[in-house]
Amino acid sequence: MTDNRNDDFDFREVTDDESVDIKDEDNKQEFEDVCFVCRRPESKAGKMFHLPNNISICNDCMHKTMDTVSQFDYQNMLNNPNLMNELNKQTGMPNMGFFNMGDLTNGNFNMGGGIPNSQKIKKKSEKSSKAAIDIKNIPAPHKIKAKLDEYVIGQDQAKKVMSVAVYNHYKRVATDTMDEIEIEKSNILLLGPTGSGKTYLVKTLAKLLDVPLAIADATSLTEAGYIGDDIESVVSKLLAAAGNDVEKTEHGIIFIDEIDKIAKKKNTTSRDVSGESVQQGMLKLLEGSNVEVPVGAGSKNAMVPLATVNTRNILFICGGAFPDLEDIITQRLNKQTSIGFDADLKDKYEDDPNILSKVTVDDLKKFGMIPEFLGRLPIICSLQALTKDMLVKILKEPKNAILKQYQKLLALDEVDLLFDDTALEAIAEKALEKDTGARALRAIIEEFMLDIMYEIPKDDNIGRVTITRDYIEGKASPLIEIRGESVQPRLPQLNVEQATNT
Ligand code: ADP
Repeated sequence: MTDNRNDDFDFREVTDDESVDIKDEDNKQEFEDVCFVCRRPESKAGKMFHLPNNISICNDCMHKTMDTVSQFDYQNMLNNPNLMNELNKQTGMPNMGFFNMGDLTNGNFNMGGGIPNSQKIKKKSEKSSKAAIDIKNIPAPHKIKAKLDEYVIGQDQAKKVMSVAVYNHYKRVATDTMDEIEIEKSNILLLGPTGSGKTYLVKTLAKLLDVPLAIADATSLTEAGYIGDDIESVVSKLLAAAGNDVEKTEHGIIFIDEIDKIAKKKNTTSRDVSGESVQQGMLKLLEGSNVEVPVGAGSKNAMVPLATVNTRNILFICGGAFPDLEDIITQRLNKQTSIGFDADLKDKYEDDPNILSKVTVDDLKKFGMIPEFLGRLPIICSLQALTKDMLVKILKEPKNAILKQYQKLLALDEVDLLFDDTALEAIAEKALEKDTGARALRAIIEEFMLDIMYEIPKDDNIGRVTITRDYIEGKASPLIEIRGESVQPRLPQLNVEQATNT
């Protein structure tokens, strides 16, 4: 069999605002016109009348207005504000009754030349109408994983599971076969302690596949009609991330974090609008349905045009730390092993940091996730708690590792920045104490690098700085080498212990 997948797919850095940065001229052809009165896009309202100042009016609104206007005495009306109000009432149009160009450009309706592009839907162009993902170009799972390895340290099992799931998902999207063997959607549930790289893994994956990504927080979601974002707002976010391109949106990834916070509340008699109801509300989205989402705004209202997005091919990844789940798993495992001849030590699983990897669907049900919701997330994978060794690797190994970033900064001043291995261990130990995974690393490093970044550029003679464990622990200064001279401590001593504790 010939392997016709693209071997050297490009790992392109996609910036968040890339899509915004498009020239005005291109925009005209790229975005659909939106009716200035009813706010429907061209694809729904049909051909538009174009008025000066980039204002478009759909056929319906134009006729409706003309019909109403014909019943009035024009001359009198334009000079009489009361009549204008009457006209507004009769047409039922919120924006205006008659297209007075003076109003549109100088007065209350000045929209800077019509509706902004942020509220327009992208047109279906030749380019975007062909599948956004080409089956021949989907990198094979091992290649996806190899790319992930460059950025994400450890978490081998999770990277493997995700690579296969994503590969299958996009193969399903690209073939789009709806024959008797329908490939099921592979939405993913990611479990893992905070700071173990859940969001980072998903972000890296989306960049690698060059698909739009929306990250939402389950805690902000509520059942429609209650205070908070309604569930469909996640699709609206994805549409924005895809630059209002509906086709791109339909192949994107939605990551919903903190999913454990919408577990069913126990012992409650009141309506659970932010827990179980949100799970219920998400069922439709996870499975695939058409949703009407506002373009360029967080919520639906009369002024915002709507776009219809089908979520059938959107990959949903839900993530959460599931803190109490560990107890549920331990209890189950202890029960299993404490019966019969193979009875085991009771506290065998008590201190296992990776107990989450032994999770089953039943455990999640016990935790408070409803069976229908879990049924729509067929792939469950867990991330390990980061160990000291992994933290040290995170500091120095990924392509954009924090240490590499500082080294590059100092290299611009022609100074070498070196880190003793023991210094890296000291940083990792401090991070472990904080119990927020890799998230603590940056805060710790920034504390003690501040002095270095401040002092070094003062002296042109400094050629090399070496960070030691003693410096991290506040016991000594870093080692400074003057160009062409030997090692000598120079910098004032910084008590990192004190600095990080404040
Ligand atoms: P969470 O699991 O809480 O979503 P994040 O993905 O936000 O954690 O991780 C926070 C930061 O820690 C990331 O931005 C990333 O820089 C770093 N990080 C976490 N885990 C890893 C990892 N396994 N490899 C490399 N960097 C990591």
